[in-house]
Amino acid sequence: MEEQGAVSETEEERTAEDDGDLSVEAVSQENEPVEQFDISLAASHSYMGSGLVAVGGRSVLEAGWTGKVPVMAHHGIVFPGEIVPMLLTNANDVAVLVQTLDHDKLFGLLCPDESGNDVSGYGVLCEVFEAGEANGAPQTLTFKARANHRFRFKDMPKQSQPIEAYSRMKVVEVRVLPEVKLGDPLHQNRLLSLDNWRRERTMLDNRLRNIDAKLTPWPLFVYDIFDYHRMKQTIKDYFGNIIKTPIPEDPVSLSFWTASNLTMSIRDRLALFIVDDALLRLHMEVRLISRDSVLCCLSCSTEIARREDVFAMSSEGVHSNYTNLGGYMHDIVTVSRAQNIDLSGSPSADFSWFPGYAWSIASCAYCLVHVGWRFDALKRNMRPQQFFGLCRNYVLPRTTGRRDRSPSQSASPPYTPPRTPPYSPPPVRSSRLASLLSDLRQAGLQQIEAINIIYDMVDDEP
Ligand SMILES: [Zn+2]
Repeated sequence: MEEQGAVSETEEERTAEDDGDLSVEAVSQENEPVEQFDISLAASHSYMGSGLVAVGGRSVLEAGWTGKVPVMAHHGIVFPGEIVPMLLTNANDVAVLVQTLDHDKLFGLLCPDESGNDVSGYGVLCEVFEAGEANGAPQTLTFKARANHRFRFKDMPKQSQPIEAYSRMKVVEVRVLPEVKLGDPLHQNRLLSLDNWRRERTMLDNRLRNIDAKLTPWPLFVYDIFDYHRMKQTIKDYFGNIIKTPIPEDPVSLSFWTASNLTMSIRDRLALFIVDDALLRLHMEVRLISRDSVLCCLSCSTEIARREDVFAMSSEGVHSNYTNLGGYMHDIVTVSRAQNIDLSGSPSADFSWFPGYAWSIASCAYCLVHVGWRFDALKRNMRPQQFFGLCRNYVLPRTTGRRDRSPSQSASPPYTPPRTPPYSPPPVRSSRLASLLSDLRQAGLQQIEAINIIYDMVDDEP
């Protein structure tokens, strides 16, 4: 409890000093130059040691490719583009991976279903690009891989399969899913005679689109829902102050990058994962961005952090995967401050994911369930001086503001997510919405089911 008191005090001081200028003052007295943490250090995963060597060759797979690959279960959902650091200590897993290193260097991570207990039948193929023995220990393998293709089981399981059934590497037949980039539906129905006047993102262009829309059954705003430039700008505005690295330009990469960097429930993540159409995925993400939310303890719903305190401590973004010495991969979101946290153990810099920072175990102050770690800089002139790394699957976003739910309606302990394997989208409630969606589907948008899931979640009001 002493530790908890210490945290509360720090929080009060930080609030009073308006965004942590407290330590700036302390350091300036000593005339030490301030050093900003190099976020590329965290992305290099240097804690894995210097024994990793580059593994050559690349495998590019086409959509629809089927083949046998070794897969294993993961407790979270990894999107293409993410770096996956792993440490294998099981001799069987090591043997399987060593074989693939001589072959195509591919393995799969299976996504859990929305309950987190069973496999969803979906997963991501990862390609190893650096590998070596963990700290020189034989019978171990440590490596970094890049997630690159979504897949699903070639034969989807008829019954739910517990995630434990895939705790060890197992070879299964998978099919690579397509990444669809459908064009603007209005563009296909436009008046060709006006093409010479069209200039992207101008007032005139908007007026011409309005004219185009008048020739269809739907007003312009319906088409604008899926306008890539509008969605990209919304994402850019949202992440502008949080992530300084450039955001991807093409719709597919941007949709995965956004999914990787948003904090959301496993249900939302799975919905985004199974969508083939990048514009639809972006649309769902923009809707998620528009909701204010706080991060709460998964077990007792106590508020742990606010979304505006999320910031990037890695050039990979605000979320990154890190592995611990036991080979468990954590999906971490970094926040500049947290509340209702209890610290335990003495700070340690061993195997620290953020070089120059010591970690302490952080638990929910109310139910004492582990939620992440606090990181404290070892040097007084380092910025930030302190931050928290929260485990994405131990904190649950809860919507606030307009769509706020009273505490009695929020997930109450113990948290029991809805369990409907295999994944089945709920029906659309509003007939008006259903007819709109049906028309959008005719306009060329497939997989509207996923949008139904999101609308259902967003409109899940009492
Ligand atoms: Zn709790």
